[in-house]
Amino acid sequence: MVRLVSAFRFPRRFALPAGFTAAALAVLFAFAGCFVRETVFRNTRPLMGTLVEIAVVQRDEARAYAALRDAFSEMERIEGVMSAHREDSELSRLNREGYPGPVAVSPELFEIVQKGIEWSRNTQGAFDISVGPLLKLWPLYRAEKILPTDDAVAEALQAVGWQKVLLDSGGQTIGFRVPGMALDLGGIAKGYAIDRAVQELREAGIRSALVNAGGDLYAMGRKPDGSAWRVGVQHPRRKGELIAVLEAQDVAVVTSGDYERYFLKDGRRYSHIVDPRTGFTARGTASVTVVGPNATDADALATGVLVLGPEEGLRLVETLPGFEVAILSEAAEGSGLKFTASSGFRRYFRVDEAFDDRVP
Ligand code: ADP
Ligand code: MG
Repeated sequence: MVRLVSAFRFPRRFALPAGFTAAALAVLFAFAGCFVRETVFRNTRPLMGTLVEIAVVQRDEARAYAALRDAFSEMERIEGVMSAHREDSELSRLNREGYPGPVAVSPELFEIVQKGIEWSRNTQGAFDISVGPLLKLWPLYRAEKILPTDDAVAEALQAVGWQKVLLDSGGQTIGFRVPGMALDLGGIAKGYAIDRAVQELREAGIRSALVNAGGDLYAMGRKPDGSAWRVGVQHPRRKGELIAVLEAQDVAVVTSGDYERYFLKDGRRYSHIVDPRTGFTARGTASVTVVGPNATDADALATGVLVLGPEEGLRLVETLPGFEVAILSEAAEGSGLKFTASSGFRRYFRVDEAFDDRVP
């Protein structure tokens, strides 16, 4: 016999008060929320001369996009403070007024200039944010595509040198010892912007994200499937090919190379990085990838090691806890590339077979 549904009467004693039902449902939904899948939300914006992509892992779409917006705004703000190209940046004002100076600056600019000088000390002057006057000489940075004379280089060097930057931490002022000086934060500000974006995401409650500024990045946490973020390191001479694949978790990975921005003349490559000790563009090292605890330091270190070259560069990184490095250098100009890596590098990288036997 089939009993009709309509004939079934819910016993009165099972009826619940309206408020109770709502509360029970809320608990149920909250519980179900734990099983809503985490998704990767991403956005890309042109910033700091490159394309910045930020990916965040979140359940809630609105929260994800709000966090992305805040992180990008923070990077844009930093570019506005630290760009050497923008007339209205705080850095440009410092460059105009630093001599005779001193100039009162924001705590943030003071801190990053101080950090830059710390890295000058660590790299024995290979990394130097006071290279502004030198950069202006090289064709990559000027309209006339001619190489500077030795005299012009020697003259520019008079206005270069981290010891000529006067920092007063009490008064938060910066001054220049000689006229014609100009600071350039191109070797460290991108890393700083990445770290600040990561901080913004953390404050928004994000636990897993990738902030990637044209290959310089910080990887936070893990992807929704539990695996680490995978990062490819580009071959500096063969476009589109990778030399290494990195599994990154809670580390920064920053690469300095001569292969993206350079000027070619008579078969010679003039990199966008200058050697502050000679005044000429850095030579011989094609790329330097640094893994480290934060992107600010990794950025400065990668630029510094590119100037120092593989031997001195490796020696320096081996003394720095928490940092690893991989260097591709030219044994002789135009010849093949030599691979050099620090001892802990294996923990992070899977290296292309062509270079594999040379990884310690
Ligand atoms: P990228 O900007 O390609 O990521 P880097 O982090 O190595 O590469 O920064 C290169 C920039 O740093 C240059 O464009 C210039 O603004 C600045 N720079 C050049 N030479 C030096 C140097 N020896 N020390 C510090 N900064 C430098
Ligand atoms: Mg750098």
